[in-house]
Amino acid sequence: MKKIVIASSNPGKLREIGQLLEPLAIEVLPQSDFEVPEAEEPYFTFIENALAKARHASLHSGLPALADDSGICVDALQGAPGVYSARFAGEPKSDARNNEKLLQALEGVEDRHAHYYCVMVLVRNPEDPQPLIAQGIWQGEILQAPRGEGGFGYDPLFLDAKTGKTGAELPMDIKNRISHRGHALRDMLHLIEKLQS
Ligand code: IMP
Repeated sequence: MKKIVIASSNPGKLREIGQLLEPLAIEVLPQSDFEVPEAEEPYFTFIENALAKARHASLHSGLPALADDSGICVDALQGAPGVYSARFAGEPKSDARNNEKLLQALEGVEDRHAHYYCVMVLVRNPEDPQPLIAQGIWQGEILQAPRGEGGFGYDPLFLDAKTGKTGAELPMDIKNRISHRGHALRDMLHLIEKLQS
């Protein structure tokens, strides 16, 4: 594996994944290089959506493809917003409206436990029977009001259990080290290393 297509057009994700795979001498290419049409994400689970995105990118590029899917799962809401995190408050997607809706859903609720979840899938071809699958979890709780200016999505409401800071208050390098995506990425790196050894 010398080249991998990343099933995302998010520049932050591309940079992060590129950096991590640098030691393995794997070139990371954005799916925009191959005019990959937008993939459907119709499933109830993160893993199914990530697999669908990876297969789709591999099919359209002719290369191995890496996809991720992530979101926030709130215990008191039975795991919602989950796979619907990006569009929790409907279209067009808006972080501000999603956060407002989450606060409303948790009004008067004592149990504020939540976690971010990320799954990464690498397929070597569109029909790969044995995709590499890596996961990461970041535990925390939902505050009563937003705090901090950084991050994105639900970060201003998500309090990291260990540091006592929200995702929006943590410097980017620390967030990348402790986050669901950071854990999943490092897990994926180990899986690829094993495959190549
Ligand atoms: P995606 O997997 O990049 O499409 O992310 C799905 C949605 O989950 C995002 O739009 C955010 O609402 C939420 N999300 C995932 N990861 C994070 C994070 O690190 N911080 C804040 N929100 C996140």
